[in-house]
Amino acid sequence: MTERSPAARADELIDAWEEMSEHVDDDPQTYERLVIECAHELAADRRGPLACRWTLGLVLALPYLSTRNPRDDDFEAAFDAARAADRAQRDAPCTHQGHPFQDNFEGELGNMADVMRDLADDGRSWTNSRPRDAWLCPRNVAGYARVVMESLRPGSASDVPPFLPFRDRYDLETLTAIMEGYPLSRTYDVAWDLSFAASALQSAADDELAGRVFVAAAVAWYVESEGDDSDARELVDELAAAFERAIGLLHDDACPHATHPDLPSDTTQALWVGMHLASARGRAAYETWPEPWAPPLHTALCSAFVAATARDSLTRLRTS
Ligand SMILES: [Zn+2]
Ligand SMILES: [Zn+2]
Repeated sequence: MTERSPAARADELIDAWEEMSEHVDDDPQTYERLVIECAHELAADRRGPLACRWTLGLVLALPYLSTRNPRDDDFEAAFDAARAADRAQRDAPCTHQGHPFQDNFEGELGNMADVMRDLADDGRSWTNSRPRDAWLCPRNVAGYARVVMESLRPGSASDVPPFLPFRDRYDLETLTAIMEGYPLSRTYDVAWDLSFAASALQSAADDELAGRVFVAAAVAWYVESEGDDSDARELVDELAAAFERAIGLLHDDACPHATHPDLPSDTTQALWVGMHLASARGRAAYETWPEPWAPPLHTALCSAFVAATARDSLTRLRTS
């Protein structure tokens, strides 16, 4: 049996990495092996021609790695390999105006596996908005390595553009899938997963409060339209208690705004707004890449607006 070349092995793994990125926690044992192999290959060849592919392999592992403990072997191996790749390549000579790692990462992640397939095969047409050589540039590889570092240990590479933390992305995808009527395989009990919105609001710190109110409001709208069984009754009580606590904490007497924009009436868009506003990193991403349908950050964070949203949701829950 002939040993496959590392290049053939890296190409072969793209499908598995893509599956790991989409399924996140379906098959942790397989994903752990994939991450460790990828990290070892990158650490052994951090300046080599395949460094870009191994680094992007770790990027595709980030959704899965957000479910892991920082002391797990694969988590540490991924971080150490990314740090080594960054140090080896970040100061390489380069004439590019910019690099793909500086773009909106949340939008790019879903295309990453296709970009890797295109990079691996000169015969495929190149359709990405950034040139091929900017993807392969050592500084881009170093940039994505820092994205991996920043995701795994926030603060370790804070010069990369902001992105929603993957743990919040995981919750956002779980709730969005429920609201769209197609729960993910990780959802065993819809009411249980929805109750996360109530418990997160119930324990929210001051700077998380706006985001958690909007997440809970989106869930309340969904429950109002969908839920009428006894599980929903318990959920309604939990949500109502969490809104009452939030209203008690919010001061809405000193608002400078003449009007406030509405939250998007689409439940999943309102959920998206809330999940981004619930963390400093999410808020930075929200402000850096504003969505046309989302209210501007400063008015969305206004406590009068947040309090009004909480009171409205509470009223609707009590009359539903
Ligand atoms: Zn470059
Ligand atoms: Zn205001």
